[in-house]
Amino acid sequence: MGAPALTEAAIRGTSIWDHMHGEGVHHLMRKLIGHVRQTRRQIVVPFRCDAATTRIFMELMITPADKDGLHVSTTVVRTEDRTVPILFDEKVAISDGWVVVCSWCNCIKVSEELWLEVEDAIKVLDLFDDVNKRPQVTHGICDECATVVLDDL
Ligand SMILES: [Zn+2]
Repeated sequence: MGAPALTEAAIRGTSIWDHMHGEGVHHLMRKLIGHVRQTRRQIVVPFRCDAATTRIFMELMITPADKDGLHVSTTVVRTEDRTVPILFDEKVAISDGWVVVCSWCNCIKVSEELWLEVEDAIKVLDLFDDVNKRPQVTHGICDECATVVLDDL
């Protein structure tokens, strides 16, 4: 697998915040944590933590612990190999363009309403007209993830 740093053993014990980027995601995490604190019930939420050559499907588990404590853990559910999308190919130079990646499902924002898997987004976005360059990546959260995750509560 092309992501030795992202094996389960490497992930276990690290902070959830290390894997969650973007203001929307932190907002969502705070809501999830607040919900578990309030209800004292465990929640399990699926999310994606892709590496360049691997799709990594993970689960975030938040469990109430003693007193007001919480136990937060992440587990790798399964992985799928893929060819490196140009967006994540470190051998390709970076352009002036930017794309937003959903920190929760790793989809790419292609319009105000539409987020697609990276392979599909590359076909749609004009950012890849110049095949010698790739846009820079910033993180956010797509509407679907924000809605689905919060509706689960
Ligand atoms: Zn998403």
